[in-house]
Amino acid sequence: MLTSTVASAPAPARVRAPRPSYRPFAVSVSRVQRLSTNFTRVTFTGPDLNEFGTAGLDQRIKLVLPLPGVGVSSFPQSDSWYETWRDLPDERRNPLRTYTVRHARPEHREVDIDFVTHGDAGPASRWVRAAIVGDEVAIVGPVADGDNPVVGIEWAPGNANTVLIAGDETAAPAICAILAGLPRTARGCAYIEVPESGDAHETNAPDGVTVTWLPRNGAAHGSRLEAAARSWTARFITAHHSDTVLPEIDVDESILWEVPDGSALDGELYAWLAGEASVIKRLRRFLVTDVGIDRRQVAFMGYWRDGRAEHA
Ligand SMILES: Cc1cc2nc3c(=O)[nH]c(=O)nc-3n(C[C@H](O)[C@H](O)[C@H](O)COP(=O)(O)OP(=O)(O)OC[C@H]3O[C@@H](n4cnc5c(N)ncnc54)[C@H](O)[C@@H]3O)c2cc1C
Repeated sequence: MLTSTVASAPAPARVRAPRPSYRPFAVSVSRVQRLSTNFTRVTFTGPDLNEFGTAGLDQRIKLVLPLPGVGVSSFPQSDSWYETWRDLPDERRNPLRTYTVRHARPEHREVDIDFVTHGDAGPASRWVRAAIVGDEVAIVGPVADGDNPVVGIEWAPGNANTVLIAGDETAAPAICAILAGLPRTARGCAYIEVPESGDAHETNAPDGVTVTWLPRNGAAHGSRLEAAARSWTARFITAHHSDTVLPEIDVDESILWEVPDGSALDGELYAWLAGEASVIKRLRRFLVTDVGIDRRQVAFMGYWRDGRAEHA
């Protein structure tokens, strides 16, 4: 019968509208804490930060920096913000810089970012040195109920049984967030090179992961990190030379970035390396070519390049 057929027909499936994984959030500074000579923690607050993602680990964001006389008023708020921003005239196109979410407290509409202050050379470092409560910027960050809440996370250890984490001060916020997010049974080590002894801070690492802060105290950038990672690896792995030929990467012309998805790892070492591009390139070459670790076990990321502004 017609009526019963109609009554029992399945309801049409509801198609969920796509939701962006990242979007701009209007924020202002609510607290500035000088953690040490070279680190400043800025807490941001904003009316929509209750929707901010909390996936943690090394999740990155884009900080939208103010322009003189314009602030961030010309920064597009739509989902297609990138295309609109890219087409703006120079004088209205805000600088963007990449940072790590150190903590997100959506219940309090707050996000913390830990900045390395490296002088006045770049707009981000310049901004943070002068930042005061009430300053307005914007963050392009993860949306909690977006289609991919883990967007921007590169940490992917799969079933590795040991982790080697190595980075410089720009990677310290990511490393601290990764350590806090590791299963408490994790094993391995983390090396964090920082400018000075006073830059070391508390971490929440599992007992089986040894954390070593490596103050340069005037030594060359990367020198202490490379020495420590090489020495740990030599102890951990019986060195053997690999025939793997790595493609030459010009760190001045292209972004140094390769992040395996971890699916090939089962009970092995996973290495995560981030920091100044030439240092990370050398470290990765050492692990893959000299020691013979499968390149699918090594995530490496040039977080910045000495002498070059972030391309944004
Ligand atoms: C995924 C990701 C996550 C990151 N997370 C953080 C983070 O949480 N905290 C953080 O502080 N940084 C982080 N960085 C690094 C940060 O984006 C760069 O340091 C960025 O260049 C800073 O922008 P700026 O405007 O200060 O300098 P830019 O305008 O980009 O550069 C100006 C000059 O400063 C130099 N420079 C840039 N950074 C440094 C530095 N740290 N020390 C010395 N010289 C420098 C450049 O080589 C250039 O000569 C991250 C980078 C990436 C890719």
